Amino acid sequence: MSETPSPDDRLIAQFTEIVGAANAISDTETMAPYLVEQRKLYEGKAALVLRPGSTQEVSEILKLAHSTGTIIVPQGGNTGLVGAQIPFDSGIEIIVQMGRMNAVRDIDVSNNSITVEAGAILQTIQQLADDNDRLFPLSLGAEGSCQIGGNLSTNAGGTAVLHYGSTRDLVLGLEVVLADGTVWQGLRKLRKDNTGYDLKHLFIGAEGTLGIITAVVLKLYPKPKARATALIGLNSISDALKVLEMTLSHSDGVTSFEFLPRFAMEIVVEHGDGVRNPLAQQHPWYLLVELSSGDADGGVNETLLEVLERAFERDLISDAAVATSESQRLAFWQIRTLISEVQKHEGASIKNDIAVPVSAVPEFLQRADKAVVALVPDARICAFGHLGDGNVHYNISQPVDMAANKFIDLWEQITTAVNDVTLDLGGTISAEHGIGRMKRHHMAHIKSAVELEMMRSIKHLFDPSNILNPGKLL
Ligand SMILES: Cc1cc2nc3c(=O)[nH]c(=O)nc-3n(C[C@H](O)[C@H](O)[C@H](O)COP(=O)(O)OP(=O)(O)OC[C@H]3O[C@@H](n4cnc5c(N)ncnc54)[C@H](O)[C@@H]3O)c2cc1C
Repeated sequence: MSETPSPDDRLIAQFTEIVGAANAISDTETMAPYLVEQRKLYEGKAALVLRPGSTQEVSEILKLAHSTGTIIVPQGGNTGLVGAQIPFDSGIEIIVQMGRMNAVRDIDVSNNSITVEAGAILQTIQQLADDNDRLFPLSLGAEGSCQIGGNLSTNAGGTAVLHYGSTRDLVLGLEVVLADGTVWQGLRKLRKDNTGYDLKHLFIGAEGTLGIITAVVLKLYPKPKARATALIGLNSISDALKVLEMTLSHSDGVTSFEFLPRFAMEIVVEHGDGVRNPLAQQHPWYLLVELSSGDADGGVNETLLEVLERAFERDLISDAAVATSESQRLAFWQIRTLISEVQKHEGASIKNDIAVPVSAVPEFLQRADKAVVALVPDARICAFGHLGDGNVHYNISQPVDMAANKFIDLWEQITTAVNDVTLDLGGTISAEHGIGRMKRHHMAHIKSAVELEMMRSIKHLFDPSNILNPGKLL
């Protein structure tokens, strides 16, 4: 990248003209929030931040970038956790921030679809679906600020993947501006379309390296009319797995099956504003289980109570609370969603986003804990996540009496140990956050030569001048 020249004043003026001066940011102070991600693990510099207002403007930006070899970093809500949306230190890259392109182009209730621009905030889309008596099921902690374009580009997961799939599964069509400015108009609203390669899937999870997504047709679902939610205390993850099996064989409406350890419950109660543990005693592990039904009399509460009763009889669970109101349900969910945020209060942390086959989660935890404790005996392991998907956020807080920087110095060693266990169990080192800058150096280890070659060929085909987010992912 050092060979790429810095855009000169004339070129900066040309880029600025495309979006208008009001939407081009070059002063250091206004640019600052776009240059650093929320955990402050990655911070860079940029020549300019452009905020286009239309597909036409994105196309003109990329046309100019392509002809001048200018590097473009697409950015959505800047909530990504692997540094893919942040420029490097060179100061020659231009950020294209999609926030202004947030229009709703179409809601087709009969087709159960909504067409929105890439900068639309996830929570706004959820609300729009709700206003139309539908559900858009993608849900994650950053939903108030992440954009659908970012969700698509990271193939975001979240808390409802078990039932609805990840972002990839929620897409019918895409509009994408390619690296040379060509617009691919793939905004189809079809549920069946077997006409060859399904190109949209190349851009989903591509982390902005193949094109800039400008609009999407998303699937909508019937809005649940009844929900049953329980917070459960239990002794082991092996037991949790048995409860998962029981729940799935009792109900086809299991929408979430989340787990957290005692440490997570303790820090959420300690640092979360007004949060309390609904169970009278502490337990080694907790589950947050939710069943949904499109039928108000669907009997989800009865089903959940029956599962809990049987689990008690089999000694699989120690205690459980079932939400009796929407506010209680939200209070249960708050415990789960606050974990990442409150972990900051416990000092430095090293976070891994892994997935293994669901059946291998107990073995993963046992082996990963052993490997981590061998490196850092007093590490405080906070392994939580989406048990129903085999996705563990294997986060480790520093020992209480260790200097933060000494702990962070062990990042590579700890991560490698966790990755080795993950890969040995047939898992992945990135379940839902992506590769970005953080995990790029692991790609040669986790992908076969054939896979890497196919990925590089695709990148070269779509972006021969390597102007789209170079140095990320591949
Ligand atoms: C508190 C918190 C909780 C989170 N929980 C989850 C979770 O449960 N599940 C999960 O999967 N993630 C989670 N995340 C991570 C993050 O929210 C997701 O990765 C999200 O999808 C990123 O969206 P964004 O708009 O912020 O994208 P950004 O961070 O801005 O960008 C992410 C990537 O997408 C690219 N990009 C953005 N917009 C476009 C576009 N229009 N076209 C092409 N490329 C684009 C960027 O170049 C970058 O590579 C969480 C993050 C936080 C802070």
